[in-house]
Amino acid sequence: EKFRQLGLSDNTLLALKKKGFEEPTEIQEKVIPILLHQDINVIGQAQTGTGKTAAFGLPLIEKLKGGSKNVQAIILTPTRELAIQVAEEINSLKGRKRLHIVPIYGGQSISEQIRKLKKGIDIVVGTPGRILDHLKRGTLKLDSIKYFILDEADEMLNMGFIDDIEEILNHAPVEKKMLLFSATMPDRILKLVEKYMGKYEIIRI
Ligand code: AMP
Repeated sequence: EKFRQLGLSDNTLLALKKKGFEEPTEIQEKVIPILLHQDINVIGQAQTGTGKTAAFGLPLIEKLKGGSKNVQAIILTPTRELAIQVAEEINSLKGRKRLHIVPIYGGQSISEQIRKLKKGIDIVVGTPGRILDHLKRGTLKLDSIKYFILDEADEMLNMGFIDDIEEILNHAPVEKKMLLFSATMPDRILKLVEKYMGKYEIIRI
């Protein structure tokens, strides 16, 4: 079917079937093949509810190696609710792949988060303030990051997180793939894109 044609593995196709996703949404159809087969950054201009989480989550599941000691991907979200939701959605799509996906957000016990981080996480889904806190404490390192994802970038800007995001970006290696999802593209986001994203493709839906 259509999901198979996008280049997804049997493991992921089975997880999609169990979840009841029959056909890719428009953003998934456009973004998944790029992330699987091209070495380029992606900007997705899409509203929430379009299936954007699976659009970046499915390629992450395919591309990352399970059981790595270091964090391989970071997803920043404006709210703790979205962080939890994104982590749950990716978790429900990973099938038998051994990936450890954990939400890290403000308001939760920091010592509990440090314990989880020590055990090893493959994909961290977090809110900017708390992520920066862990980077400053040295309890989270982004040296081995392969994917840096900004989800609802315009919302993070509205909530005053733009400087935190830039500081977090400065902790990540230059060699990485960046994905940015945003419903709108205000100037401040475009500046960030210009400074950090290099070569990219824009997908508008
Ligand atoms: P999102 O835009 O990522 O927040 O997704 C919105 C909702 O659509 C979530 O409840 C997803 O689980 C669901 N969803 C995402 N992709 C699909 C799909 N291909 N088929 C059916 N439901 C989907």
